[in-house]
Amino acid sequence: MSNNGLRLVWVYPDLLSTYGDQGNALVVERRARQRGLDVQRVDVRSDQPVPTSGDIYLIGGGEDRPQRLAAERLRRDGGLSRAASNGAIIFSVCAGYQILGHEFINDLGEREPGLGLLDVVSTRGEGARCVGDVLADIDPQLGLEPLTGFENHQGVTHLGPTARPFARVRFGRGNGTGDGTEGAFNDTVFGTYMHGPVMARNPQIADHLLKLALDVNALPPTDDRWYEALRSERIAAATQPA
Ligand code: GLN
Repeated sequence: MSNNGLRLVWVYPDLLSTYGDQGNALVVERRARQRGLDVQRVDVRSDQPVPTSGDIYLIGGGEDRPQRLAAERLRRDGGLSRAASNGAIIFSVCAGYQILGHEFINDLGEREPGLGLLDVVSTRGEGARCVGDVLADIDPQLGLEPLTGFENHQGVTHLGPTARPFARVRFGRGNGTGDGTEGAFNDTVFGTYMHGPVMARNPQIADHLLKLALDVNALPPTDDRWYEALRSERIAAATQPA
């Protein structure tokens, strides 16, 4: 992190922000400020270069055509890949998650190359679209509270050997492969199918990204009663019989 504080980069809000993804940027920003950190948030539209000097990058969900455009522009630009090779932390949701993998199926039904920052490949699910509330246990290695979220995707994501499942679903579909996995991660790059926006429902994830960026094991506590109330409500919704 530079002396100018934490640089939070929100990638392509003009293409990948269909599901309230700005909420993730707001939550990371707020929780950093609550800990006394200076935060510089940079929103990068798809006609602008992605800066390589960010600490944390967020990339959201979107519909199939904007997803293809985003993948094309990110490949051409190269900034996000360079940031990743510099060790930046990247958190991605749904369409953004698929783009960070090796490839996905685009709106034309073709295989679209991704950035290969996560060892995952997405195909188009043959069955019904995965839509609904999700409750999942995050990989114990990360030591985080269970994940609650809402998924809405047709893609199905298969993990390669260097990607770990981000979570295992108790309710919901997650990666859609039928093996119970949800999302994927490696040391610095994370992907999930959870919308919501996911950080508002799971602020422990925002804190985890901040800890990685600051290279610390703990952060000062915050008053999380509001988040906890929302989490309990959403867990009840996910677990209630249809
Ligand atoms: N178009 C992708 C899919 O359906 C991603 C959708 C999304 O971001 N919600 O799998």
